[in-house]
Amino acid sequence: MEISGLTRTLGLIGNPVEHTLSPVIHNGVSERMGISSVYVPFKVDKTGLKEAIKGAYELNILGMNVTVPHKNEVMDYLVDIDTSAKHIGAVNTLVRVEEKHGYKGYNTDMLGLRRQIKEDGIDIKNRTVVILGAGGAAKAVVYMCLLEGASKIYLLNRTVEKAESIADNMNDYVRDGVFSYKDLSDIVIPMQMSDYKQIEDMELIVFQATSIGLHPHNDDVVIDDPGFYEKISLGIDLIYNPAETRFIKLVNQYGGKGYNALKMLLYQGIIAYELWHDITVSKEIIDEIYIKLKQKVYPNIVLIGFMGSGKSTVGKYISDEYGMDFIDTDTFIEERAGKSISQIFADEGEATFRKIETDTLAYLNDNLYNAVIATGGGMPLRPENAKLLKEIGKVYYLFASEKTIYERVKDDHTRPLLQCEDPFNKICELMGQRRPVYEAVSDMEIDTDEHDMPAIINIIKGS
Ligand code: NAP
Repeated sequence: MEISGLTRTLGLIGNPVEHTLSPVIHNGVSERMGISSVYVPFKVDKTGLKEAIKGAYELNILGMNVTVPHKNEVMDYLVDIDTSAKHIGAVNTLVRVEEKHGYKGYNTDMLGLRRQIKEDGIDIKNRTVVILGAGGAAKAVVYMCLLEGASKIYLLNRTVEKAESIADNMNDYVRDGVFSYKDLSDIVIPMQMSDYKQIEDMELIVFQATSIGLHPHNDDVVIDDPGFYEKISLGIDLIYNPAETRFIKLVNQYGGKGYNALKMLLYQGIIAYELWHDITVSKEIIDEIYIKLKQKVYPNIVLIGFMGSGKSTVGKYISDEYGMDFIDTDTFIEERAGKSISQIFADEGEATFRKIETDTLAYLNDNLYNAVIATGGGMPLRPENAKLLKEIGKVYYLFASEKTIYERVKDDHTRPLLQCEDPFNKICELMGQRRPVYEAVSDMEIDTDEHDMPAIINIIKGS
């Protein structure tokens, strides 16, 4: 993206902001739509919030997201607040309003979750909903469920007073006619988390809105009782990393359907972007950004190295152990071409095969996440391939000595490059040429002569 005098600045204010995924969304959309705006994180302390908002306006910043710990307090420094954000009591998006010389606040978390459930075909109208948690995110969930016409909402929290306070506010809004209920009795019922057994309804829609189960505490869950999960027909975990939390696994195990809320994150960003630029982002672009987001949250592992260096064996092992997809690029190419690599070499020559490899990498770069990719030995040699491999994921070079390689592949007659008088010599010659390339392309080198399989896996997963 070329920065010019017309480029507009967007940003995120919060603390911490280092791990934000929002630049993937906003800069991705700008790039894809040819809009000259850049999105950057701004680390802002509580003490500097007021000045930061004022300064942002003076610096002509078009719009901002707001994250922890400022989502409530920021409301004191805005010139206008969208009604639903006011009711929820939290703002995560600021839109510049020139006439009022400041920013208007919105809650696109709520709108993002609403768009996700619609896309996932979840209909809340007249359903009994259970919300686990009563923190900032849970407030947006309660509001969204009331907008969508839930018949009853059980709000469960460890600190029951927080659930009571949210329920009081929301039930008041119901009585004030904010939502379209005819019966104005209490819809939101606060409960202590441990009292979940008192819920007798079946076919529940449950939102998991606590922070329990977040990576790396993947096995934690706030309620562990099968009796609870048997009552759930749909379960949405606001946590998206890991992709499948223990909560989602339990929902699926007991016959319900579980979802994570990565799309909520995606859509809160897309809706903010649409508000800032007063445009609609197309479905095609949203789908592309979603893939990029998934690649960032659930990154790929790329294995490179000489033939026989163990890429497929290591790749399959990681894939089984960590539930990641496994792609062997040679097998992938053979399946797509409908013939073996030897046959492609024989029919179309090495140059054509190398071109097919590049096209394959470009395809994988656009479509793959949470996968382990074992690459053909010659793949990193083309500079365009090297660039694509780095884009696809973290690149590990599996090294094995010439002697080890020879022992592993000497009886394999399917390898075109070794069909010669002196295969060992050929291996030494090719290794001499390729090793510097493998080293340059990789993020990390692992000597497979020195480490056994568990040690290799530990190095990769621990890095
Ligand atoms: P928060 O305001 O800090 O609230 C945390 C919630 O978790 C509270 O209800 C808290 O209960 C509960 N909790 C924490 N530790 C607990 C424990 N040991 N046992 C039982 N309950 C516990 O956080 P938030 O902003 O609402 O976020 C909640 C979750 O939603 C986070 O995991 C966040 O990543 C996720 N989220 C996702 C999206 C998205 O786009 N997908 C957006 C926003 C948030 P107490 O009140 O008793 O402490």
